Amino acid sequence: MAKRIGLYPGTFDPITNGHLDIIRRATKLLDHLVIGVAINEGKGPLFPLDERVELVRHEVAAIAKEAGVTISVEPFDILLMHFAEKVGAQFIIRGLRAVSDFDYEFQMTSMNMALNRDIEMVFLMAGGKYQAIASRLVKEIASLGGDISHFTSPYVAERIREKFTAQGVKFAPGKVVPMKRNGAKPKPK
Ligand code: ADP
Repeated sequence: MAKRIGLYPGTFDPITNGHLDIIRRATKLLDHLVIGVAINEGKGPLFPLDERVELVRHEVAAIAKEAGVTISVEPFDILLMHFAEKVGAQFIIRGLRAVSDFDYEFQMTSMNMALNRDIEMVFLMAGGKYQAIASRLVKEIASLGGDISHFTSPYVAERIREKFTAQGVKFAPGKVVPMKRNGAKPKPK
Protein backbone atom coordinates (compact mmCIF):
# COMPACT_ATOMS: atom_id res chain seq x y z
CA MET A 1 0.00 0.00 0.00
CA ALA A 2 1.24 3.52 -0.74
CA LYS A 3 2.64 5.45 2.19
CA ARG A 4 0.13 7.90 3.61
CA ILE A 5 1.79 11.30 3.57
CA GLY A 6 0.17 14.35 5.13
CA LEU A 7 1.15 18.00 5.21
CA TYR A 8 0.27 20.17 8.21
CA PRO A 9 0.90 23.78 7.24
CA GLY A 10 0.84 26.83 9.50
CA THR A 11 2.75 29.78 10.83
CA PHE A 12 3.63 28.15 14.18
CA ASP A 13 4.61 31.46 15.78
CA PRO A 14 5.26 29.67 18.06
CA ILE A 15 4.05 26.07 18.28
CA THR A 16 1.46 25.62 21.08
CA ASN A 17 -0.14 22.68 22.87
CA GLY A 18 -3.07 23.13 20.44
CA HIS A 19 -0.80 22.45 17.45
CA LEU A 20 0.81 19.52 19.28
CA ASP A 21 -2.57 17.93 19.96
CA ILE A 22 -3.46 18.17 16.26
CA ILE A 23 -0.07 16.69 15.32
CA ARG A 24 -0.58 13.76 17.72
CA ARG A 25 -4.00 13.07 16.19
CA ALA A 26 -2.65 13.37 12.64
CA THR A 27 0.05 10.78 13.28
CA LYS A 28 -2.70 8.19 13.87
CA LEU A 29 -3.81 8.62 10.27
CA LEU A 30 -0.46 8.83 8.50
CA ASP A 31 2.86 7.10 7.87
CA HIS A 32 4.73 10.35 7.35
CA LEU A 33 3.83 13.88 8.36
CA VAL A 34 5.44 16.96 6.90
CA ILE A 35 5.00 20.06 9.01
CA GLY A 36 5.22 23.06 6.71
CA VAL A 37 6.25 26.26 8.43
CA ALA A 38 5.07 29.21 6.34
CA ILE A 39 7.33 32.25 6.12
CA ASN A 40 4.35 34.60 6.56
CA GLU A 41 6.43 37.74 7.02
CA GLY A 42 3.19 39.68 6.49
CA LYS A 43 1.95 38.47 9.88
CA GLY A 44 4.97 40.12 11.55
CA PRO A 45 6.00 36.95 13.40
CA LEU A 46 7.55 37.11 16.88
CA PHE A 47 9.97 34.30 15.98
CA PRO A 48 11.96 34.39 12.74
CA LEU A 49 11.43 31.44 10.44
CA ASP A 50 14.54 29.49 11.50
CA GLU A 51 13.55 29.72 15.18
CA ARG A 52 9.96 28.63 14.46
CA VAL A 53 11.30 25.61 12.55
CA GLU A 54 13.74 24.79 15.35
CA LEU A 55 10.99 25.00 17.99
CA VAL A 56 8.67 22.73 15.97
CA ARG A 57 11.51 20.20 15.44
CA HIS A 58 12.27 20.21 19.15
CA GLU A 59 8.61 19.67 20.09
CA VAL A 60 7.72 16.92 17.62
CA ALA A 61 10.71 14.62 18.06
CA ALA A 62 9.10 12.76 20.98
CA ILE A 63 5.71 12.53 19.24
CA ALA A 64 7.25 10.87 16.17
CA LYS A 65 9.02 8.35 18.38
CA GLU A 66 5.90 7.59 20.41
CA ALA A 67 3.68 7.25 17.35
CA GLY A 68 6.21 5.26 15.31
CA VAL A 69 5.86 7.55 12.30
CA THR A 70 8.30 9.91 10.65
CA ILE A 71 7.83 13.67 10.92
CA SER A 72 9.82 16.22 8.95
CA VAL A 73 9.68 19.96 9.47
CA GLU A 74 10.24 22.17 6.45
CA PRO A 75 9.92 25.89 5.83
CA PHE A 76 8.03 26.94 2.68
CA ASP A 77 7.24 30.13 0.82
CA ILE A 78 5.37 28.83 -2.22
CA LEU A 79 1.69 28.19 -2.88
CA LEU A 80 0.40 25.59 -0.40
CA MET A 81 -0.83 23.22 -3.11
CA HIS A 82 2.50 23.40 -4.93
CA PHE A 83 4.30 22.61 -1.68
CA ALA A 84 1.93 19.68 -1.01
CA GLU A 85 2.68 18.32 -4.50
CA LYS A 86 6.41 18.83 -3.97
CA VAL A 87 6.44 16.77 -0.76
CA GLY A 88 4.12 14.13 -2.23
CA ALA A 89 1.29 14.71 0.27
CA GLN A 90 -2.09 13.12 -0.42
CA PHE A 91 -3.61 14.94 2.57
CA ILE A 92 -3.48 18.45 3.99
CA ILE A 93 -4.17 18.56 7.70
CA ARG A 94 -5.77 21.60 9.28
CA GLY A 95 -7.00 22.18 12.81
CA LEU A 96 -10.41 23.64 13.50
CA ARG A 97 -11.01 25.76 16.55
CA ALA A 98 -14.16 27.80 16.22
CA VAL A 99 -16.71 29.04 13.73
CA SER A 100 -14.23 31.71 12.69
CA ASP A 101 -11.70 29.05 11.59
CA PHE A 102 -14.44 27.25 9.69
CA ASP A 103 -15.30 30.29 7.62
CA TYR A 104 -11.69 30.80 6.52
CA GLU A 105 -11.00 27.10 5.95
CA PHE A 106 -14.22 26.74 3.94
CA GLN A 107 -13.03 29.34 1.44
CA MET A 108 -9.48 28.00 1.34
CA THR A 109 -10.68 24.44 0.77
CA SER A 110 -12.82 25.40 -2.22
CA MET A 111 -9.91 27.28 -3.76
CA ASN A 112 -7.41 24.51 -3.04
CA MET A 113 -9.72 21.88 -4.50
CA ALA A 114 -9.84 23.87 -7.72
CA LEU A 115 -6.04 23.77 -7.83
CA ASN A 116 -5.65 20.04 -7.16
CA ARG A 117 -8.62 17.67 -6.78
CA ASP A 118 -6.45 14.71 -5.75
CA ILE A 119 -5.26 16.17 -2.45
CA GLU A 120 -7.80 15.77 0.37
CA MET A 121 -8.21 18.35 3.11
CA VAL A 122 -8.51 16.74 6.55
CA PHE A 123 -9.85 18.78 9.48
CA LEU A 124 -9.14 17.77 13.04
CA MET A 125 -10.32 19.24 16.32
CA ALA A 126 -8.10 19.43 19.36
CA GLY A 127 -9.16 17.89 22.68
CA GLY A 128 -11.25 20.06 25.05
CA LYS A 129 -8.52 21.84 26.99
CA TYR A 130 -6.53 22.69 23.87
CA GLN A 131 -9.35 23.94 21.67
CA ALA A 132 -9.13 27.62 22.49
CA ILE A 133 -5.34 27.97 22.37
CA ALA A 134 -4.08 30.36 19.69
CA SER A 135 -0.46 31.51 19.19
CA ARG A 136 -1.72 35.09 18.87
CA LEU A 137 -3.35 35.02 22.32
CA VAL A 138 -0.39 33.29 23.94
CA LYS A 139 1.84 36.12 22.67
CA GLU A 140 -0.66 38.72 23.85
CA ILE A 141 -0.71 37.24 27.37
CA ALA A 142 3.09 37.02 27.44
CA SER A 143 3.45 40.60 26.22
CA LEU A 144 1.61 41.64 29.39
CA GLY A 145 3.72 39.43 31.66
CA GLY A 146 1.02 36.78 32.11
CA ASP A 147 1.44 33.08 32.82
CA ILE A 148 1.54 31.08 29.57
CA SER A 149 2.60 27.76 31.06
CA HIS A 150 -0.74 26.06 30.30
CA PHE A 151 -0.60 26.81 26.59
CA THR A 152 2.83 25.66 25.42
CA SER A 153 5.55 23.25 26.49
CA PRO A 154 7.94 24.55 29.19
CA TYR A 155 10.66 24.85 26.50
CA VAL A 156 8.55 27.04 24.22
CA ALA A 157 7.20 29.09 27.14
CA GLU A 158 10.76 29.89 28.18
CA ARG A 159 11.67 30.97 24.65
CA ILE A 160 8.61 33.26 24.52
CA ARG A 161 9.49 34.75 27.92
CA GLU A 162 13.04 35.42 26.69
CA LYS A 163 11.67 37.38 23.70
CA PHE A 164 9.43 39.56 25.83
CA THR A 165 11.94 39.96 28.66
CA ALA A 166 14.31 41.40 26.04
CA GLN A 167 11.55 43.92 25.28
CA GLY A 168 11.37 44.93 28.95
CA VAL A 169 8.36 42.81 30.01
CA LYS A 170 8.56 41.58 33.63
CA PHE A 171 7.28 38.11 34.50
CA ALA A 172 6.22 37.16 38.03
CA PRO A 173 8.56 34.48 39.38
CA GLY A 174 5.94 31.72 39.16
CA LYS A 175 6.18 28.23 40.56
CA VAL A 176 7.88 26.05 37.96
CA VAL A 177 6.23 22.65 37.76
CA PRO A 178 8.47 20.15 35.97
CA MET A 179 6.57 18.51 33.13
CA LYS A 180 7.10 15.12 31.58
CA ARG A 181 7.70 15.16 27.83
CA ASN A 182 4.14 14.06 27.05
CA GLY A 183 2.79 17.05 28.97
CA ALA A 184 1.57 15.00 31.96
CA LYS A 185 2.28 16.47 35.39
CA PRO A 186 4.40 14.12 37.51
CA LYS A 187 2.54 12.37 40.34
CA PRO A 188 3.22 13.88 43.80
CA LYS A 189 5.83 11.87 45.71
P1 ADP B 1 -2.25 29.91 10.37
O1 ADP B 1 -1.49 31.19 10.33
O2 ADP B 1 -2.30 29.15 9.08
O3 ADP B 1 -3.59 29.99 11.07
P2 ADP B 1 -1.32 28.64 12.70
O4 ADP B 1 0.05 28.30 13.11
O5 ADP B 1 -2.02 29.68 13.48
O6 ADP B 1 -1.29 29.02 11.22
O7 ADP B 1 -2.20 27.33 12.70
C1 ADP B 1 -1.91 26.22 11.89
C2 ADP B 1 -3.08 25.29 11.92
O8 ADP B 1 -3.27 24.82 13.25
C3 ADP B 1 -4.40 25.93 11.50
O9 ADP B 1 -5.16 24.95 10.83
C4 ADP B 1 -5.05 26.26 12.83
O10 ADP B 1 -6.46 26.28 12.72
C5 ADP B 1 -4.59 25.06 13.65
N1 ADP B 1 -4.64 25.31 15.08
C6 ADP B 1 -3.88 26.18 15.80
N2 ADP B 1 -4.21 26.13 17.11
C7 ADP B 1 -5.21 25.21 17.22
C8 ADP B 1 -6.00 24.68 18.32
N3 ADP B 1 -5.86 25.14 19.55
N4 ADP B 1 -6.93 23.74 18.02
C9 ADP B 1 -7.10 23.29 16.76
N5 ADP B 1 -6.40 23.73 15.70
C10 ADP B 1 -5.47 24.67 15.91
